[in-house]
Amino acid sequence: MRLLVVEDERDLNRAIAKGLSKAGYAVDSAYDGEEALDMFDVNEYDLILLDLNLPKVDGIEVLKEIRKKNLFIRIMILSARSNVEDRVLGLDLGANDYMIKPFDFKELEARVRTLLRISYRQSPSVLMHDDIRLDTNTKEVFITDKKVNLTRKEYAILEYLILNKERLVTSEEIFEHVWNNEADEFSNTLKYHMHALKRKLYEAGEKEYIANKRGLGYHLRKDNEKT
Ligand code: CA
Repeated sequence: MRLLVVEDERDLNRAIAKGLSKAGYAVDSAYDGEEALDMFDVNEYDLILLDLNLPKVDGIEVLKEIRKKNLFIRIMILSARSNVEDRVLGLDLGANDYMIKPFDFKELEARVRTLLRISYRQSPSVLMHDDIRLDTNTKEVFITDKKVNLTRKEYAILEYLILNKERLVTSEEIFEHVWNNEADEFSNTLKYHMHALKRKLYEAGEKEYIANKRGLGYHLRKDNEKT
């Protein structure tokens, strides 16, 4: 899952980005409204955390612009403006949630989890595929009852594949949702992590869960599909 943190207070921005990266998300930071809109245009985000008092383009304008282009992306406002009018305005303009600064990071993280679940059609906190069970709260993965120790990236790839298991997903798409702007050499990086993920799943479940359609992308095999 890829997130954009829009906040001009650099220390706060970095603290949020760092905390969310630790929780396993790919996180980019924007420090003013214009940068936020530029990044929104070129990257695929699942959720945007948006401050309202921003230089260059105000948060409310950013919110309006983004909603014009994308009805589905989750947007959470983070603001010190605590009066009812601002909250109502934010929600009326299409924000999905509103947190008042200062806030507790644990609560922020919990709300982020909830919003991301809603964006994937109310998927439950435990995702299943075949005999794989993935707990999105603890970020743990089990095959039958065996715990599979995955790195954050491996976990994020698997989660993305399970959330989109009805279709083939391209390498570019996985990369867009699992890595942030700092990543480069996309094809080798993805191949490396994908290889490790497949190997760990194979060792735990003794089958090939992920199929690779060369040049097209990846998909999860159906429970009864021959390997
Ligand atoms: Ca601000």
